[in-house]
Amino acid sequence: MIVLSGGTGTPKLLMGLKDLADFSVVVNTAEDVWISGNKICPDIDSVVYALAEIIDDEKWWGIKGDSFRTHEKLKELGYDEMMAVGDLDRATHILRSELLRKGKNLVEATKFVAEVYGVKHGIYPMCNEEVATTIVTPEGEMHFQEFWVKRKGVPDVVDLYFKGIEKARIPQEVLEVLKRDDEVLIGPSNPITSITPILSVEGFRKRLSGKKVIAISPIVGNNPVSGPAGKFMKAKGFEVSPRGVFEVYRDFLSALVVDEADSKLASGNTFATKTIMKSKEDAVRLSEFVLKLFDKL
Ligand code: GDP
Repeated sequence: MIVLSGGTGTPKLLMGLKDLADFSVVVNTAEDVWISGNKICPDIDSVVYALAEIIDDEKWWGIKGDSFRTHEKLKELGYDEMMAVGDLDRATHILRSELLRKGKNLVEATKFVAEVYGVKHGIYPMCNEEVATTIVTPEGEMHFQEFWVKRKGVPDVVDLYFKGIEKARIPQEVLEVLKRDDEVLIGPSNPITSITPILSVEGFRKRLSGKKVIAISPIVGNNPVSGPAGKFMKAKGFEVSPRGVFEVYRDFLSALVVDEADSKLASGNTFATKTIMKSKEDAVRLSEFVLKLFDKL
């Protein structure tokens, strides 16, 4: 199975799926950013930390129990780092960036990082090239991280685009996984800024047709469970609802899983179950539901 992932909803699910199924994860890298000399891949890091069971499961980013002494010292020295980077988390970023500086590509650096954390599943960036989700606001354009971390998601969103996406290519390793596996799971991730960048890498979308593709809605009722997905879906002309999620994936989706609170939508290729994950048990139960659904399709 191939799982497409962003950095919060899907990593939560992976904590349950990891002991039940064999899978590879293709991860969004359009939110990556160089900070204080190192490349931060927020979604890759969250997937690695979730599968290594060391993720901070309150914030859903960074390492559980991490300290922020370097970040705080930098502030004291007059350097205001845009993002609060944990001390242990920074070690991951340094390791990755050193590999990149030595000429490895992101696929190779990610493989190395996943292995040193003891992660057995294949984790792949959607591409080796740099892509940057750029948010268009009435105040001008800004990088996703500036919008979400620095400006706390406050500015209105007029539009957004993925800078550099036209140069992005599906890595050979991902092409092989796409050739081999016929089941694709889109976890409960932001359809616009986490999944659409992956789908927008040249040729990715068309490689999904003919496969069994299940998506879990990150929207319950008319609101995202967390994060800015609502603002982005609206800006792209989609209804903020599970139906809107379905529309984003319309051309290839086999089945949509919605929350039990939206059970009125269940019919045809839409199935309802509890999708809110507050514990590993919730993630295991939702994973079992999805695995059974793949068997039925
Ligand atoms: P990001 O990279 O941090 O934006 O992370 P993702 O795109 O992977 O996840 C963000 C999305 O996950 C948001 O749209 C949330 O609504 C959704 N989400 C987070 N937790 C849950 C959950 O427990 N259940 C469901 N159904 N969606 C969730």
